[in-house]
Amino acid sequence: MDFPDTIFALASGAPPAGIAVIRISGYQGGQVLMRLSGKPLPMPRVATRTRFMLPEAGDKDIVLDDGIAIWFPGPQSFTGEDVVELHIHGGRASVEAVAGALSGFVGVRMAEPGEFTRRAFENGKLDLTRAEALADLVSAETEAQRQQAQRQFSGALADLYDGWRQDLVAMLAHVETVVDFADEEIPKDLLEGLDNKILRLKAQITQHIDDNRQGERLRDGFEIAIIGAPNVGKSSLLNALARRDVAIVSEIAGTTRDVVELHLNLGGLPVTLADTAGIRDSLDKVEEEGIRRALVRAEGADLRLAVFDAAIWPDLDPATVALMTNETIAVFNKGDLADDDLSENAKRSDIKGPYGPVPAFVVSALTGDGFDALLDAIKNAVSRGIDVSSGSAPLTRMRHRTALVEALEALDRIETPVRADGPELLAEDLRLAARSVGRITGTVDVEDVLDLIFSEFCIGK
Ligand code: GDP
Repeated sequence: MDFPDTIFALASGAPPAGIAVIRISGYQGGQVLMRLSGKPLPMPRVATRTRFMLPEAGDKDIVLDDGIAIWFPGPQSFTGEDVVELHIHGGRASVEAVAGALSGFVGVRMAEPGEFTRRAFENGKLDLTRAEALADLVSAETEAQRQQAQRQFSGALADLYDGWRQDLVAMLAHVETVVDFADEEIPKDLLEGLDNKILRLKAQITQHIDDNRQGERLRDGFEIAIIGAPNVGKSSLLNALARRDVAIVSEIAGTTRDVVELHLNLGGLPVTLADTAGIRDSLDKVEEEGIRRALVRAEGADLRLAVFDAAIWPDLDPATVALMTNETIAVFNKGDLADDDLSENAKRSDIKGPYGPVPAFVVSALTGDGFDALLDAIKNAVSRGIDVSSGSAPLTRMRHRTALVEALEALDRIETPVRADGPELLAEDLRLAARSVGRITGTVDVEDVLDLIFSEFCIGK
């Protein structure tokens, strides 16, 4: 595909930095490099020491920077176009000077967000799931997220979805044959086996999407809401966690009246802990709003930590108990104040919530006692069903889920056993299902249906 503009952008992180990489893509790429360097193009794909100069300086050499240029002639480049990488000094002024010179060329402009990858996709360099994986790789904060993105980037999802689409296209090809060549002699067994193929594919798609959203949750990060009555020690618990040796990827913000968040890397899993306002009836408008937000937060959370004061065991706060779901861990805080028998009691028991028993842990935010066991339990609870080391590729995006649900809906409309006397509707539903799946990788076309008909059955020769 020919794009009229040549684009450039800073490909490395924000300056200042040791080195900045400016990437240029488009048909003018080579021309731009020659004019900046004042030399012929260097060897393709070889890092070449180059001085970059202001092109219109005439006799006076105005050196912008001294660095490295790499020339990737298309189509063997990331975008498929002619690509140039300029490795320059990573100071703000150096980057601005070179970017300013690039903007000075007619038909060369700053790239829009994602424009390089978009061009790579449009030029058939990568499919949509790989393009999405690239974005996920760049934003991955933990090891488990990185592994998931890496697997998707290596084509695990593209292969799975392409395989399904090809199955659908093959089925469609058979049915199309019946539609298009109804008057001619058709092999009798053409539709034989179609029922089984449809049922098998439906089962595979259903199993893939019925995954408790583990891939999406890993990509987005797991949400944990800390709930409990005022003064049971929710903020202290969060602060104690923040002080511990778990990698914290961002700072605590907000106030206790609102929702305070802590982002943790729990053994490779991205976890957001949200301390919510104390849950109780309140006449204070601000606090009321805080409580409303706490409830909303708890509603959407993957896991709830229901915090109680261990010293008042077994008088559990009924408002907190009412919010305990199956995805809840009960935490008895202030274990240092509780008398030994009581805290032993709490330790041994599963606590009864409205939906059944939930595991309980006794901790002290003051002394740090009990936190190792609590953190292990949290990690196990959020990682249930997640196996980043397995070879299977989980569904990672709502877009994929929506497309697969649409495909399933189309397949569900097909009545089995399929009857050869109504092939138009059957073909239409198969086509819709194939389109939906094809939209995920971005390879929606009908040409291959026709190709398959003629290559497989040799009709019309
Ligand atoms: P929140 O309203 O649930 O967020 O409770 P805070 O975290 O503000 O704690 C309320 C009070 O309990 C504060 O005075 C804390 O110092 C105290 N506190 C919190 N955790 C512990 C603990 O484990 N042991 C003791 N002895 N005091 C605690």
